[in-house]
Amino acid sequence: MAEYDYDLFVVGAGSGGVRAARMASELGARVAIAEMDRMGGTCVNVGCIPKKLFVYGSHFSYDLQDARGYGWSTESSFDWATLLANKDREIARLNRIYEGLLEGAGADLVKGPARLLDPHTVEVCGTQHSAERILLATGGRAIVPDVPGREHALTSNAVFSLEELPERMMVVGAGYIALELGSVLCALGVDVTLVHRGEEILRGFDRDLRCHLHDELEAKGMRILLETRVEEIRQTNVGFEAQLSNGEVLETDFPVFAIGREPRIEGLGLEGLGVELGHRGGIVVDDDFTSSVPSIHAVGDVTDHIQLTPVALAEAMHFAHHFYGQGEHRIDYMSIPTAVFCQPELATVGLTEAEAWHRCQDVRVYRSVFTPLKLTLSERKEHSIVKLVVDASNDRVIGCHMAGHGAAEIIQGLAVAIKAGATKAQFDATIGIHPTSAEEFVTLR
Ligand code: FAD
Ligand code: NDP
Repeated sequence: MAEYDYDLFVVGAGSGGVRAARMASELGARVAIAEMDRMGGTCVNVGCIPKKLFVYGSHFSYDLQDARGYGWSTESSFDWATLLANKDREIARLNRIYEGLLEGAGADLVKGPARLLDPHTVEVCGTQHSAERILLATGGRAIVPDVPGREHALTSNAVFSLEELPERMMVVGAGYIALELGSVLCALGVDVTLVHRGEEILRGFDRDLRCHLHDELEAKGMRILLETRVEEIRQTNVGFEAQLSNGEVLETDFPVFAIGREPRIEGLGLEGLGVELGHRGGIVVDDDFTSSVPSIHAVGDVTDHIQLTPVALAEAMHFAHHFYGQGEHRIDYMSIPTAVFCQPELATVGLTEAEAWHRCQDVRVYRSVFTPLKLTLSERKEHSIVKLVVDASNDRVIGCHMAGHGAAEIIQGLAVAIKAGATKAQFDATIGIHPTSAEEFVTLR
């Protein structure tokens, strides 16, 4: 007789939780998974997927402008309600698919908020479930600013259920979400003002690309205020006004804060269980995703490490293989490619030029700024930038960066080259595909 109801009880059916539950179940473990909201978590419901659908949807406004230069005369209009309804339909389809995947793998789905009673017992809606191991995959939630009027501050979630497009959006922050959702609304004709505390957008990315993107976003009509903070938000008769640190009172209909996300641990009952938490409340885990309590594990955003879906998936796979399989799935956190789906999009893998100078004796840098061929017949002006960072001591390419159309698709391929340790000489020896933007990477001299 088994001592516990389950071998593994997963809390949270998002990217990490679903992957871990499915894999562990397929490897023979008896698994249950609890979810208190919609299946698929942040990525599926209010993250990557609806965001990318909105990016596609809004980009047509630029595509239609470009089409005119190619002889198309287009009478077009845009209906936000259609995009929203079609997005919701697709997400509902994905929710069902996720549920089906779990069922297919033989995991039990328990609906409701889960709370730990002890290191082997989880309670969901009054029912207790015991398990040899508990995996916390509860993700994160948007940070709300600590300013007067914070009750008026919206988060990225509001964009995904917006019934009507606002006239004016204020987006605070200059990271992934602010740039992506600001770009979407900007492309759809909303008057977007981005308010950022720092001296340039996208801290942590390569400086050349940050500056390039700043100019491109402004060229598309986004207003960017740097070294500026929101001090207060007030409701008015027609909307909201934000008191800014530069003295300006910014009127807006849609005040969105995208100032980072924090681990979601509230209500989990971790108090008193001895689970060590980091300074922002993230669950501290070892290389195998075990917390300070041996039967409690965590993967994904709740560990407050790298907040990306493929990272949560990789961690879940490592966890499942380590405890229920045979092989190890060691995760290499170096050179994780990433993209910001603003317009134009930015993608990167490896070191920035500044990071390279910190780590290497000598660095060679190659860059090119160009107008993509497709836009040469368009009235619209948009430039792309590509950049390679090379360790001069061994000729290895240690950073690839691009802002421009197709950047994410291109950098995903180059990430393999970086992983394989490709040298600049090997990039040079690679024949380009002409005419493409990607060929710039093998013709930089
Ligand atoms: P989540 O996917 O957040 O899943 C956690 C789940 O746990 C949720 O379903 C939640 O309801 C559930 N839960 C929480 N507490 C409990 C409880 N007590 N009981 C039961 N259930 C509970 N990443 C990318 O790689 N690419 C992108 O393009 C991208 N775009 C993004 C856009 C936005 C607007 C946002 C917000 C995020 C984006 N991300 C993107 C990040 C990505 O969504 C997350 O890194 C990823 O979803 C983390 O997965 P997770 O499994 O850790 O948590
Ligand atoms: P980010 O960490 O990307 O950006 C946060 C921004 O808010 C930064 O510009 C930061 O400025 C600013 N900020 C932080 N704290 C404050 C504050 N108290 N007051 C004012 N500004 C502040 O977070 P996001 O919320 O944009 O996204 C969360 C995470 O989700 C991302 O880090 C990413 O991992 C993931 N994500 C991934 C996407 C993708 O892969 N395409 C898309 C969307 C999200 P400063 O630079 O000064 O710190």
